[in-house]
Amino acid sequence: MLQSVDLGVFLAFLVGLAALILFGLQAWYRRDAILSDHRRLSSAFSCARCGLTYVRPRRREEGVCPSCGWNNVRLKF
Ligand SMILES: [Zn+2]
Repeated sequence: MLQSVDLGVFLAFLVGLAALILFGLQAWYRRDAILSDHRRLSSAFSCARCGLTYVRPRRREEGVCPSCGWNNVRLKF
């Protein structure tokens, strides 16, 4: 059965829906920014001894290879 809905209630519903969508998008983009930030902040290494490529969290100039223990210098792009 169709019910007559007050125009004010309908408009409030639309505004609430729009706010919810905007909030969702904002949260999504913030999550994306955090992820790309994390990627930029971690350091990549390529082992000179065994050829393994690995990543260490945070910015650092040297990282020990998890496979053979060789200390490698960070890859620069
Ligand atoms: Zn290695």
